[in-house]
Amino acid sequence: METKGTFRYANVIVDISHEKVDRTFQYKIKDELTDSLYVGAKVYIPFGKGNKLITGYVMELTNEAEFDVSRMKEIDSLVPEGVSIESRWIRIAAMLKRNYGSTMIAAMKTVLPVKSTVKQVEKRTVHLNIDKETALALCRQFEEKHQKAKARLLAELIDVEILPYAIVTGKLNVSTQTIRGMVQKGIILVETESTYRNPVRFSSQTGIRKVLNEEQQQIFDSFRQDYERGERKKYLLHGVTGSGKTEVYIEMIDYVLSQGKEAIVLIPEIALTYQTLKRFYERFGDVVSVMNSKLSQGERYDQFERAKNGEVKIMIGPRSALFTPFPDLGIIIIDEEHEGSYKSETMPKFHARTVAEWIAKDTNSTLVLGSATPSLESFYEVEQGNMELFRLKSRYAKSNLPDVEVVDLRQELREGNRSIFSRSLAEKIQERLNRKEQIMLFLNRRGYAGFVSCRSCGFVMKCPHCDVSLTDHRNGKLICHYCGYERNQVNLCPECGSKYILGFKAGTQQIEEALHKQFPTAKILRMDADTTKKKDDYERILSAFTNEEADILVGTQMIVKGHDFKKVTLMGILAADLSLSANDYRAAEKTFQLLTQAAGRAGRSGLPGDVVIQTYQPDHYAIQYAKNQDYDGFYQEEIAYRKLAGYPPKAHLLAVLFQAKREEEVKAYAEEMAMRVKKEALSRREQHILVIGPAKATIGKINDVYRQMLYIKNEDYNQLVEMKDLIETTAWQMQTKYSTVTTFFDFDPMSGY
Ligand code: ADP
Ligand code: ZN
Ligand code: ZN
Repeated sequence: METKGTFRYANVIVDISHEKVDRTFQYKIKDELTDSLYVGAKVYIPFGKGNKLITGYVMELTNEAEFDVSRMKEIDSLVPEGVSIESRWIRIAAMLKRNYGSTMIAAMKTVLPVKSTVKQVEKRTVHLNIDKETALALCRQFEEKHQKAKARLLAELIDVEILPYAIVTGKLNVSTQTIRGMVQKGIILVETESTYRNPVRFSSQTGIRKVLNEEQQQIFDSFRQDYERGERKKYLLHGVTGSGKTEVYIEMIDYVLSQGKEAIVLIPEIALTYQTLKRFYERFGDVVSVMNSKLSQGERYDQFERAKNGEVKIMIGPRSALFTPFPDLGIIIIDEEHEGSYKSETMPKFHARTVAEWIAKDTNSTLVLGSATPSLESFYEVEQGNMELFRLKSRYAKSNLPDVEVVDLRQELREGNRSIFSRSLAEKIQERLNRKEQIMLFLNRRGYAGFVSCRSCGFVMKCPHCDVSLTDHRNGKLICHYCGYERNQVNLCPECGSKYILGFKAGTQQIEEALHKQFPTAKILRMDADTTKKKDDYERILSAFTNEEADILVGTQMIVKGHDFKKVTLMGILAADLSLSANDYRAAEKTFQLLTQAAGRAGRSGLPGDVVIQTYQPDHYAIQYAKNQDYDGFYQEEIAYRKLAGYPPKAHLLAVLFQAKREEEVKAYAEEMAMRVKKEALSRREQHILVIGPAKATIGKINDVYRQMLYIKNEDYNQLVEMKDLIETTAWQMQTKYSTVTTFFDFDPMSGY
């Protein structure tokens, strides 16, 4: 494929994400554009009947006309502020489209997280343009003439020579007109300097290099030998929390940087950015930057520019950091690789692990996955010989793993304890408070809604637009978390009139309240979706807790990941099995991971740690293996189940979601599509493609849109890709009959529908 030169036609993909226009359109290239067009360029093109100008990306330049040239439209112009796509990213986008099912434009937008250029921040300064003696004389003249503003500015400049423009117009109260006048007379100069926005706000680069211990050193040496030999492998670094994985990453990056290359470090959630960033900054200083959705457009654009021009060499962030346009990438690290947030929730629903593999291959980089509880997928790859395993077996500080106690909540209830806290947990909280040590309480809220139900007849308050229960909020409102629908709390059951219609009291807010009641002197911080809405909320709460401004930190998943609090000696897990009841083949894995990670939080620096797991299913294998921190045991039992049931990683699963406003329409559509798919599956009998459904989704309706599901299972991922292609073409053919149905694909889904 040619990328530049004298071509007459360009194949352009238009910036509209709809299946109907999900192909390239050919345009003529007018003479004045022949030299400036290139593959990946963002252009304005006339589109549709009205020839409205819309944007698009040039995919290909050619001299072969695809249709009648006399009817072919011309590209209007290059988009001046447009960010172009490098051909590397077009390749990755095409792979995203093929492997995950989305339109090409949606795939391109994924690999191009910053879509338009943003002007650099301009820093203006005012300088003295004459020597000091002349200035002094002039200043006296101004004073005599009562030109106070001019005198004030000159006096100040004689002192300091350079002043920020904002200070001159602000604090010194000199008008822009006065400034202009003085510039014209040559007394002063105004200079403008463009600077990049830098979201990293640390000042201390200690540069201190920790000496790796023997285990860490062996891993590093082995990596280095491979790298020197030009072997860019995939490694899984398995080590309990606190075993020093991050130190190993840092050494690897240091080495890769010394080879003149760059590094990407993926972390699962914004909550983690602060502490990770701080550690990397302390070691590497200003070459470290971050990328995440909470940055402004300008900040994001500038980080990519800094990466392109070599100012930044290490990019840290969640999924989108993968698409950093480094000139010579050398290593990609995915920390906490088992995390669900590495799977995108919007189309294309890609997994960062897979895309990182593509990018690593494309750029000849090493890929390192790290976790205390590796995903079944990754460990399976190790078993299959596709990935090398490194293990850190002990915690760095030789601090012991915490003691874990499993409390049976059914027994508590039988013995008359109706509190959220078991007797054992309450006792241990009190001990910590007395000893001035810190406590973390974790509520596993996944798959759980604080729903309101009638204790007499069982009626559940539901959203009228979605198939989900409403959640009880303290402000007296019932809220739908899917569509935002809101109504007042009810006093009587709408079904039977009973007054025993109550919220299920077990959210983080309720726990905070219960703590206040039971431990009135304890200082409490809460971290959940409600308390972390603003950009700096995570940092604020985390540093307050680190600075021991509170005794107890209550929170959701966010609090169990990665953080290193020295004074925490007790971790309470309030309802361990809430995530087990989720209808999801990953429920046990998620529960095991969460509990193991949570348990790893306690007792990290010499002080002995305790973990209390409260549960209704104390004998469940996920809970038992987590109690013993036995990853291998869990893996063996879980993989056996996945193999038996034909679930990932042994087999692959494609979830197809059909949506429409009219229930009959989406049902008929799903039936017809399923028939087509089943027929195809039958014709490939030797492939054993399993088609399940169609059926109403678990949440059958969201926002008045009805949902039907079809599942397709096979050991060979490519078979699923081909079935996806078939569905796409069939959908195209069924367009006229069912115009309002939309189809979404989710390969190896991480959440239920
Ligand atoms: P992980 O990433 O596996 O959770 P960390 O890298 O955060 O583990 O290490 C846990 C703690 O031990 C950190 O405070 C870290 O600074 C410290 N640590 C790890 N390795 C070393 C080392 N070689 N020298 C000094 N301190 C270390
Ligand atoms: Zn009732
Ligand atoms: Zn709703």
